[in-house]
Amino acid sequence: MNKRFSILTVDDEAVNIKLMVAALKDDYDIFTALSGQDAIELLEEQMPDLILLDVMMPDLNGFEVCSIINADERFADIPIIFLTASLETIEGELQGLELGATDYLAKPVNLALLRLRIRNHLAVKERNELVKEQRDLLNRQKKELQASRDDIERLLQTTDQGIYGTDISGHCTFINRAALGMIGYSQDECLGKGTHDLIHHSHSDGSHYPVAECPIYRARDTGEGCRLDFEVFWHKDGTSFPVEYSSYPIVTDGETVGAVVTFSNITEKKLIIEQFKAAKVQADAANEAKSAFLAVMSHEIRTPMNGVVSMSTLLLETDLSAVQRDYAEIVSRSGENLLLLIDEILDFSKIDAGKLELERACFDLQLLLDDINRLLAYRADDAGLALSYTIESGIPKILKGDPGRVRQVITNLVGNALKFTTQGAVVVTASLVSDQEGSVTIRFAISDTGIGIPESRLSAIFTPFTQVDASTTRKYGGTGLGLTICKRLAELMGGEIGVTSEEGKGSTFWFTVQLEKQSGEPLKAAQEAATLAQPVTPGVVAGRDNSTARILLAEDNLINQKVALHLLKSLGYSADVVSDGQQAVEALTKINYDLVLMDCMMPNMSGFEATDIIRTQSSGVLDHNVPIIALTANAMKEDRDKCLEAGMDDYVAKPVKKVVLAAVLEKWLSPARLLQRKTSDVGNQNIDLLSRLTVLYVEDDEMTRELYSLFLSDIVGTLITAHNGAEGLAAYHQHRPDIVITDIMMPEMDGLEMLKQIRTSNTAIPVIVLSAFETSDSLNQSNDFGVLRYEMKTLSRTKLKVTLLECANGLLEKGAPTLSRS
Ligand code: ADP
Repeated sequence: MNKRFSILTVDDEAVNIKLMVAALKDDYDIFTALSGQDAIELLEEQMPDLILLDVMMPDLNGFEVCSIINADERFADIPIIFLTASLETIEGELQGLELGATDYLAKPVNLALLRLRIRNHLAVKERNELVKEQRDLLNRQKKELQASRDDIERLLQTTDQGIYGTDISGHCTFINRAALGMIGYSQDECLGKGTHDLIHHSHSDGSHYPVAECPIYRARDTGEGCRLDFEVFWHKDGTSFPVEYSSYPIVTDGETVGAVVTFSNITEKKLIIEQFKAAKVQADAANEAKSAFLAVMSHEIRTPMNGVVSMSTLLLETDLSAVQRDYAEIVSRSGENLLLLIDEILDFSKIDAGKLELERACFDLQLLLDDINRLLAYRADDAGLALSYTIESGIPKILKGDPGRVRQVITNLVGNALKFTTQGAVVVTASLVSDQEGSVTIRFAISDTGIGIPESRLSAIFTPFTQVDASTTRKYGGTGLGLTICKRLAELMGGEIGVTSEEGKGSTFWFTVQLEKQSGEPLKAAQEAATLAQPVTPGVVAGRDNSTARILLAEDNLINQKVALHLLKSLGYSADVVSDGQQAVEALTKINYDLVLMDCMMPNMSGFEATDIIRTQSSGVLDHNVPIIALTANAMKEDRDKCLEAGMDDYVAKPVKKVVLAAVLEKWLSPARLLQRKTSDVGNQNIDLLSRLTVLYVEDDEMTRELYSLFLSDIVGTLITAHNGAEGLAAYHQHRPDIVITDIMMPEMDGLEMLKQIRTSNTAIPVIVLSAFETSDSLNQSNDFGVLRYEMKTLSRTKLKVTLLECANGLLEKGAPTLSRS
């Protein structure tokens, strides 16, 4: 719709105004003023599109009104047409136009001409307005463009990232302040220059970097961006600095016209990364050291503990007075507790360091609970408590998870229940909580009728080293670590742990675990489960004669040798002893042993190395498949796995428990294996010959004496021991032995003095020296006194046996009377 214009008609003659209104009102909105002053006031309220202005008016004439209107820029664009009868001269017309009038018409006005003029002026005005609008718009857009340019410029200049742009040939088109700061050039030195040649020309080692290989250029050519952080840019002063940069193509109308590169100096970042790496290496090393320390500590403590625990067990099997038994039991219990503590601390720190890994193996829950029950039954019996377990319906028979850890948590909770219950029963219940696809959640509840736990202490007992009160330790012992470990283990197995308890009535500890349902071959899984759940308690093998088994014990530690020999003896076995892997291999090349008990850490050659040689077909060992049982003081699972990986068949952890040793020996010394032995074994004759010898063994060090005595008493007919040279001399005269074995350094009378005196009456008796040292002096003197063999105290039992045999054979050849009697 066309716009309707408005016209202001100003004339002091009302009749003229009337005339105008009549002539124009159909096409325009007309409003009127009878004086110049009225017209100006009217303008403040209403803005006309055109003004028809009479010139001759009282007060303000048309010229004056015109100049006032044009002076006000709000009205300056309104076209003004003078209507006058007095403009007869050209000057008058000029004056009007000069004052800003657009046109003039002489009165009496020709109305057709007036209409035409009005129409034309309004059209011009409209066009002018349009042009003005567009000019304004253009100006506004220019300003906006400039403002956003300023913004971008400010951004580019304010960021600490270096930014530069290149055209398609790689010449710099812009570069920001940060970039200039980093590369040391001025803007003029960069603009229009090839940026690769300027700042990216060489690798960090100074070698030439061909532009053809430059990823910045490649990014531009392939149209794909790139980001790198291992290159350098070069400063104007010839030094380089490590940069992280990205380069992206600039695309206009689908065409790549250049690239924009953003970069930053990463010297500090690299330094921090280096420091971080170094710190990580240090932290890893510290962690490793901690783990190694734990392993060593465990190993070192377990070695003497082996002596304490095993020997007190053996001691308790001998005839003791009530007081002695009491003391021995305390030693035994303390040893067991100390071991438990070591295990708990190891477990705790392993879990704490996030190093505990769970196994995934099939197991039969019933067999597992059976075994736990069997193991703890004796404790329950001792305490006069009933111990039982129930498996509720719905639990799959074979499950997959970590049976060892499930066993550990149950054993711990049952152990606590037995510890804190004086009468009544301990009941273990396994129930199904949920059955999801592929897995089940099982809840184990261990209920007792014991002392209970006060409500206020219930939440605290799962925190490390916390007990209900200080008197608990005094009365029941313990560390307050067990439940913490149980909690962490339950959580690791996808479950939780909790307790309900009433003081004086009893407690129910419960935990849940998520276990996989067995999938795949059911038979295989069941077999696997059965093997894993094999009881660690020994069975009874009827009619078995353990004494026929030939066992080789490789162990460097004297106490451990003694412990193992005693344990073996108490189980009806005997063994030959060597002190390192090398000797074990040698012994196995001579004698076809039925089983080897192999310590892992030994000097000269470790148990692992020895096992490797034994299993190598080209080695001279008689039986490459001889069962090798690791004796390891390392309690960690990975150490035990290492034994199996090394080719050993099984392992027994130190301190060696008699029941465990018995079970392992029964497992590996199958009756069939013992029967395989050839009856025409030359060793039997030798053993026969040795059993006719009377040997005098003189040694002041109690430990050494006991150790060798233990061995010698097994193989020679009669063993007489003496504590020093004087005693040895007296024993010699009293028993007239066939062979003398003696130490040199001894109180009262040393070995050499004793020999000197023996030689005065017997020059033939074979003498073997077992000494802790060897000097040219002692060797010469020994020679003088006709010592047959000078050996160190580390002499293996096998070698000692061979030496004794050589002596015996020598004596036989000479027709020694004691040996001829059979
Ligand atoms: P420890 O038994 O070695 O002290 P635990 O972490 O196994 O450590 O147990 C923490 C404490 O929780 C115990 O010392 C005892 O005070 C309390 N407690 C654990 N089990 C029972 C229970 N079945 N009955 C009563 N008190 C218990």
